[in-house]
Amino acid sequence: MKPRVGVSACLLGHPVRYDGDARPHAWIRDILPEYADLLPFCPETQAGLTVPRPAVQLVRKMNGEIIMRGVADQDLDVTGRMRFWMEQQESFVENLHALIFKSRSPSCGLGSTPVYSEAGAEVEQNQDGLFAAWVRHRFPDLLLFDDVFLDKSDAQAVFLSLLADKSGIDRRGS
Ligand code: SF4
Repeated sequence: MKPRVGVSACLLGHPVRYDGDARPHAWIRDILPEYADLLPFCPETQAGLTVPRPAVQLVRKMNGEIIMRGVADQDLDVTGRMRFWMEQQESFVENLHALIFKSRSPSCGLGSTPVYSEAGAEVEQNQDGLFAAWVRHRFPDLLLFDDVFLDKSDAQAVFLSLLADKSGIDRRGS
């Protein structure tokens, strides 16, 4: 049985971005299926947001809390909807060996997502998106990667090696 890898759906060519576009990644979409079963996920559409939809971004409030807010419509706050969906993803994520996230997304970014102040100034550049942060906190032993890492020299071989190790360990039950 192949290892199971969750992948941001837009990286597999699914047209689920806010603007109805996709961001297909050739190696992930065309080569990785030889080595792993890919399970697409899209936090925003699975949480019930439409395609197309208003663009959202992460905003750090004065009290330190991070919310997901509309870029143009600052009264649009989808944080509660996203958190409700995330809390239902335990069984999906616990059956994976790894996840590959789309970089810079307010939902999927893995240490690459910008955060804005309530006034709209960019104040951080390297946050996790809401879902990536939840996964990282809830499943600290999972292999987590993003599309930018996989474009680096030798990164794809490193990923496949770690994935083989991880799925082998799980099969041995340790
Ligand atoms: S980055 Fe994540 S939330 Fe955004 S379209 Fe891709 S899968 Fe969906």
